[in-house]
Amino acid sequence: MQAMVLYRPGAPLVWTERPDPVPGPGQLRLRVGACGVCRTDLHIVDGELDSPSLPLIPGHEIVGRVDAIGAGVTGYAPGERVGVPWLARTCGVCAYCVQGRENLCDAPLYTGYTRDGGYASAVLVDAAYAFPLGEQGSDAALAPLLCAGLIGWRSLMLAGPGQRLGIYGYGAAGHLIAQVARAQGRLVYAFTRPGDTATQAFARGGGAVWAGGSDEPAPEPLDAAILYAPVGALVPLALRAVRKGGRVVCAGIHMSDIPAFPYRWLWEERSVQSVANLTRRDGREFLAVAHACGIVTHTTTYPLARANEALADLRAGRYDGAAVLVP
Ligand SMILES: [Zn+2]
Ligand SMILES: [Zn+2]
Repeated sequence: MQAMVLYRPGAPLVWTERPDPVPGPGQLRLRVGACGVCRTDLHIVDGELDSPSLPLIPGHEIVGRVDAIGAGVTGYAPGERVGVPWLARTCGVCAYCVQGRENLCDAPLYTGYTRDGGYASAVLVDAAYAFPLGEQGSDAALAPLLCAGLIGWRSLMLAGPGQRLGIYGYGAAGHLIAQVARAQGRLVYAFTRPGDTATQAFARGGGAVWAGGSDEPAPEPLDAAILYAPVGALVPLALRAVRKGGRVVCAGIHMSDIPAFPYRWLWEERSVQSVANLTRRDGREFLAVAHACGIVTHTTTYPLARANEALADLRAGRYDGAAVLVP
């Protein structure tokens, strides 16, 4: 198999050839068809998340086909198309797992962080944590659903049912969740990097009722705001944009420091909440919703060998929607 491997945070990924991995009990080996590029990958490669299992193959938005089946796996057939998310394994016995909050498991494994991921031509996955994907849609179109869509879905649920929804950072997750929010009858207000008129136009084309820079005030009070941009300075801005009782949901795994702000911006029962990981239930729910509302993924594809370029383009905001690697 071929892979783009992280040997040292801060250094570029390196093209590497390895023997195909052999699936253990309960595992599947997949031939990777596509793997999305997530902002979390950038945080890992840049060393902002500090416990990757090195050397590491990043990537946790994987679409592949079953190529080998480990002992004890039932319900999967050779050639079947499968999706692999960030949550690779949970312990099943900690207080969080027992309460159905496996996204907060005390002893988890994460795909492309503490276990090898999908920047590769082959990957192992625990069958119990994979999602059957069916045959509708291309591999590249489905890949971003596995994290951008899925974490986006969890953040939308945590934002509550309010009608006026602000989205700060209109990238991979933003453009997918805006479609779900619209299908639910909500109004989407898209906030981009100041001056990024191309992404503002992309957001309006995707149905946002308003799009502007994150330094601009919202045109009317919002019921909730979701932050996909990893910029702590947006938290107080978003608090000022939401109405009394409004929620600000921080969807990223890493964010720059949140600057101090007056308590009165939080006052009147506004709240700030983070989103961590996903449960398998989130995955099943979201994939059904994405299918039902005919979600359209805007992708830019790169050959696997150009993963470093895809990451650099994400860092610089050089494409709209989601980047996807194809082996
Ligand atoms: Zn657990
Ligand atoms: Zn992700």
